[in-house]
Amino acid sequence: LELLGTVKVSTKAQRGPDAVIERIARCVRDAVDEADLSLKEIRGVGIGAPGAVDGDAGNVIFAPNLDWHDVALKKQLEKALGLPVFVENDGNIAALGVYVTELKSKPRHMLGIFVGTGIGGGLVVGGELYSGFGHTAGEIGHMVLEMDGPKCGCGNKGCFEALASRTAMFQRIKTAIKEGQKTLLTEMLDDLEKMRSGDLRKAFRRGDKLVEGVVEDAAQYLGVGVANLVNILNPQVVVLGGGVMEALADEMLSIIVETAKDYAMPGAMNGVEIVVSSLGDNAGITGGAVLAKRMTK
Ligand SMILES: [Zn+2]
Repeated sequence: LELLGTVKVSTKAQRGPDAVIERIARCVRDAVDEADLSLKEIRGVGIGAPGAVDGDAGNVIFAPNLDWHDVALKKQLEKALGLPVFVENDGNIAALGVYVTELKSKPRHMLGIFVGTGIGGGLVVGGELYSGFGHTAGEIGHMVLEMDGPKCGCGNKGCFEALASRTAMFQRIKTAIKEGQKTLLTEMLDDLEKMRSGDLRKAFRRGDKLVEGVVEDAAQYLGVGVANLVNILNPQVVVLGGGVMEALADEMLSIIVETAKDYAMPGAMNGVEIVVSSLGDNAGITGGAVLAKRMTK
């Protein structure tokens, strides 16, 4: 697999599913053009959606961060592009990308945890993607770690992603600033809404106490999450990925590993490797390419 070109556009979920799908179609056309290809040369499109997906029909059943309910993503995108489209949950597809292109040892069981706007998960069992009875498995971002904790996009409280995602960290920082706490971020950025994971890294490295505390707390929650998942699944390899890990692995990884060891059942972590994906934000698009390639063979 080789990455020939990328194009990035914002989702603009508030415009509704039809507008978002039109933007995705435009993004695909632009990416194809960026790679000096034409749509005629494309065999298929693989796409990851942030939520519960019925992979066979290609419908998004529920995507809390987009406010989507029963959206026929595959059908609509195929109509817009005139190409076969294959849809999977975004965590599953990122796990597939990491598994196929990065893990040369081909472990039988792998868990992928992707930390970005939310927290996605993907599970490879016996060398195959595991998506469960109704294709909704892997929603690790919504396991509840704190009853009555911070509100989550899914409507629950105290979900994993409401405690340890980029969104959760930004929310805590914004609240602390409102409460009068000092941080370098207010000098570094003229608009806090434009905050990115890389800004947290810069502030952390310059000794920003607020950012340090928030990042370390998130890393501890990630460690607890890993411990819970290793207790249940006992995978050979846990891969941590996504934009947050790409920016903050140096700051977070040792805390995650130590916390996971503290909280896991004795023996459950033995021999379990915890690694950071080097694909960063490209894990999803890599998995999309792997999926499309498999499905169009
Ligand atoms: Zn949730």
